[in-house]
Amino acid sequence: MSNLQKDSGVLYVVATPIGNLLDISARALEVLRKVVLIAAEDTRHSRKLLAHYGIGTPLLALHEHNEREVTEKLLRRLAAGEDIALVSDAGTPLISDPGFYLVRAARQARLRVVPVPGASALIAALSVAGLPSDRFMFEGFLPSRQAARRQRLETLAAATATLVFYESSHRICDSLRDMADCLGGKREATVARELTKTFETLMHDTLDGLVQQVEADADQQKGEFVVLVAGAPARERSAIDAATVQMLEVLLSELPLKQAAGLVARITGLSRNALYEQGLKIKESRKGA
Ligand code: SAM
Repeated sequence: MSNLQKDSGVLYVVATPIGNLLDISARALEVLRKVVLIAAEDTRHSRKLLAHYGIGTPLLALHEHNEREVTEKLLRRLAAGEDIALVSDAGTPLISDPGFYLVRAARQARLRVVPVPGASALIAALSVAGLPSDRFMFEGFLPSRQAARRQRLETLAAATATLVFYESSHRICDSLRDMADCLGGKREATVARELTKTFETLMHDTLDGLVQQVEADADQQKGEFVVLVAGAPARERSAIDAATVQMLEVLLSELPLKQAAGLVARITGLSRNALYEQGLKIKESRKGA
């Protein structure tokens, strides 16, 4: 707090609904009412939300094409003591939405930045997908070009955390097909479509199954999507290959078994217990030699 600019205004980063207009907090409405200005991704879109709640605060467009120049103006107004809110078209600003440049610049200028939390499609989807939610990787939108998309998916194939992607109606079929190819068609996954809206749908199946279901039904290709894919299974004991055994042997010459197995587990992602057992076998065979 102490190193913040004195007497400056506050930049409130305000989450708005992802569909259902009721999904906005009482605090968000209060903040949107009391600030002098709302920086919005699309002013026409946000005006509808404000009109619904009878809020007349002036709006200023802040989108990816003007974020840098508008940021300069907003920083001057914040420094002069004005409170400003940042909203995007839906959900939480900066989450696959504009605002990063402004927030970073405001923090660098030692201005106060305050979150007003609320909806985000990725958290809403994760909360109902029925996939492990203790660890997840949010990947936002995959690249639109197929080669780049598949390359990105290949880099994620070994990740054991649940993968979360945003997708649009134009690419949902192509992306699901590439996910099945690159991550494995047998992986469990959930497609969360149109959350909080009239045609909200959750589909849960293997990736192969989801490709079939979505391709077969044009209605399931419409709207906005979050795709969640179960992480790769932790590698099995049988996956301890010759190179891993060699690594374990080298480390066992220098370190106690527990430590050697722990290190190899960290390097390879293999199960610590399986490596410990493998290490025991190595030690036994050394005794016999
Ligand atoms: N800032 C937003 C958030 O916090 O979720 C995300 C904005 S991003 C430009 C828009 C993408 O979010 C959509 O293409 C879709 O992948 C996802 N999304 C937004 N609203 C959604 C909804 N109601 N149901 C499913 N996905 C949604």
